[in-house]
Amino acid sequence: MKKRKKNDIRPGNLKTNDLRRNRLSFRIALITIVSAVFSIVAVTLVYGSMKNLIRDYNDIVDVELVNAEYMDDVMVGVYEHQAIIFHHMAEVSPSKKRDLLAQADEVESQLKTTMKLFEGNVRGSEYEVGYHDLFSLMSSYMHNVKNVVDLSKRGEMQSAYYTMHTSLEPIVTKMNDQIDKMDKAISKDTKELTQEMKRSSDFMRLVTRILIVLMVLASFFTVSYCLRISEEMISRDLLTGVSNFDKLIRVGEKMKNRKKNRLTDYSGLAISIKDFKFINQEYGSVVGDVVLKGYATILGSYLRHNEIIARNGGDNFIALIEKDHVDEFLRKINKVPVDVGEKLGLTLTSRCGIYQINDEDSIYDVINAGLIAVGETRLSGAKDYVWFRQERRDEMIRQKDILNGYHKAIDEEEFVVYYQPKVNLKTRTLCGCEALVRWIRNGEMVPPGSFIPVLENDGKVQELDFYVFDKVCRDIGDWQRRGIQPVRVSSNFSKLHLHNKGFVDDVLSVVDKHGADPYYLEAELTESSGYEDLDAMKYFVSEMREAGIHTSMDDFGTGYSSLSLLRDIDMDVIKLDRTFLRDENDAKEEKMVENIVKMIHDLDRKVICEGVETEEQVEFLKRVGCTMAQGFLFDRPLSREEFEKRLINPYYS
Ligand code: C2E
Ligand code: MG
Ligand code: MG
Repeated sequence: MKKRKKNDIRPGNLKTNDLRRNRLSFRIALITIVSAVFSIVAVTLVYGSMKNLIRDYNDIVDVELVNAEYMDDVMVGVYEHQAIIFHHMAEVSPSKKRDLLAQADEVESQLKTTMKLFEGNVRGSEYEVGYHDLFSLMSSYMHNVKNVVDLSKRGEMQSAYYTMHTSLEPIVTKMNDQIDKMDKAISKDTKELTQEMKRSSDFMRLVTRILIVLMVLASFFTVSYCLRISEEMISRDLLTGVSNFDKLIRVGEKMKNRKKNRLTDYSGLAISIKDFKFINQEYGSVVGDVVLKGYATILGSYLRHNEIIARNGGDNFIALIEKDHVDEFLRKINKVPVDVGEKLGLTLTSRCGIYQINDEDSIYDVINAGLIAVGETRLSGAKDYVWFRQERRDEMIRQKDILNGYHKAIDEEEFVVYYQPKVNLKTRTLCGCEALVRWIRNGEMVPPGSFIPVLENDGKVQELDFYVFDKVCRDIGDWQRRGIQPVRVSSNFSKLHLHNKGFVDDVLSVVDKHGADPYYLEAELTESSGYEDLDAMKYFVSEMREAGIHTSMDDFGTGYSSLSLLRDIDMDVIKLDRTFLRDENDAKEEKMVENIVKMIHDLDRKVICEGVETEEQVEFLKRVGCTMAQGFLFDRPLSREEFEKRLINPYYS
């Protein structure tokens, strides 16, 4: 592994997430703009086409109507002209005749103007020919009128009437027919135009509908795309880009209810980087982040398309991998090459807890099982890959059951305190006792060994310790009031209490509450938790001494208790674990225990041995100088009533 100095690395790809977010925003903006432009163009096109169509239609209809009007005017004019000519023929007064001729000229000039306008309107159109026919009929009419007027002027009235009937009237009839013909043609054209207009508007309506559908579809796609992107954004882990925990839960819950591609087709893998904390320490958290991102990206690239990997905080990942793919996946994540910067490349090894998913499992069960299994890889000597075992599952269920039942047990006082006597071996009399909790659950007594570690893991044991301590203080006060001579009672306290700054005050307030004499109290710090805070322990012990309460160190010789603890912490009593009684006939063992006891006495502490079951062990303890003992040989832990009897009769035979 090539190394590089801390802080020497400035990885550029840390900005990748910002870039990704910017790219997403750009895509959303682009889609919105494209849809908006598309909508505007479409609406403009439809609107423009409709406007043109209506304008053309109006223009054509206008022209047709004007033509029809001209023709009407022509016919009206011709009839009026003819009537004036009749009057002219019938009139005898020469001055009135002149007036009538002047009127006829005026009508004729109006007719000519109308014909001129009419001609201008039909020029170049299909009605031009019809117009020319009308025009020649009109000319012929005017020509014959001239003849009629001349005959009338000469007084040849009969000839004038004759010409009027034989020439003028047929021409007028023909003109009427011609206009009728043209009128029909115009109305036919107008009708066709209306139909065409209808067809066009139907077509435009169709186009509009299609455009509306397209716009709705475009909006739909835009919205669903935006939803998909925002869904993607809330489903991703911001640092690594793989799915986040919420997404895993959603996917897992969906898979649970599916018929195909079900949760049971997968194995749950809890994965973490081996020794990741050293990478953080060695290169700093900036590089740590880059490593995480690189690692997650590579793991993501090993997935099949319907598998998922999600980040579960820190360097912890949870993956759902198809059962037939697990072996290959594990082979790959055994060595994950990650490039950190230009010069640093790391090959990472993974730890993995694997869980074979069953029918009844929820995604939460899968995650818990995976985490338990990966937790096992951290035990010394364990392999990097650990399959979750059935016993662990049972244990999990048992632990869940304890945690579920705990609150009810506290509320309904299912926990009861038993007292186990401590005996002075020289006088064989009662010299103290230890308060030990029992859980009476559904009528059965549950020993603390099966629930204390679970509560301790879950941070609930502190409450229970105070529950027990409260009962102890209550009982001591009660015995004193009833005139029963108490002995010193040790009450167990998990070392987890030392986290709590108010621990001392909490202890003292319980003592005060019951008015118990501190002389009869002893706080026994248990060994079950690995937590060590020497300063906090020192402070607690000295405060207890100040208050007149004894302290003791439980299970000395096991777990984390050490000689330095003995030196640094000024406890009143050291409780030897019963492992010291393994072989009371072993001379070496005897020598060792003898020296330990001597050392404890030299340090001015008292010593007691737990778990004494035989007289041989009593003899052994006497030989090594330990004069106090606790064990089944004398008494098992006793209920309060039984223990009261022991207080009244404190002698052992
Ligand atoms: P411990 O404090 O070391 O308690 C001594 C244990 O040894 C008790 O088990 C007691 O019943 C058992 N014992 C006593 N004499 C003999 C003997 O001659 N032979 C054998 N084989 N065992 C003997 P128990 O009551 O099951 O308690 C187990 C542990 O549970 C305790 O060990 C203590 O660590 C924890 N515990 C019990 N009550 C409390 C409590 O109120 N708070 C906390 N934090 N832990 C508690
Ligand atoms: Mg104890
Ligand atoms: Mg013990």
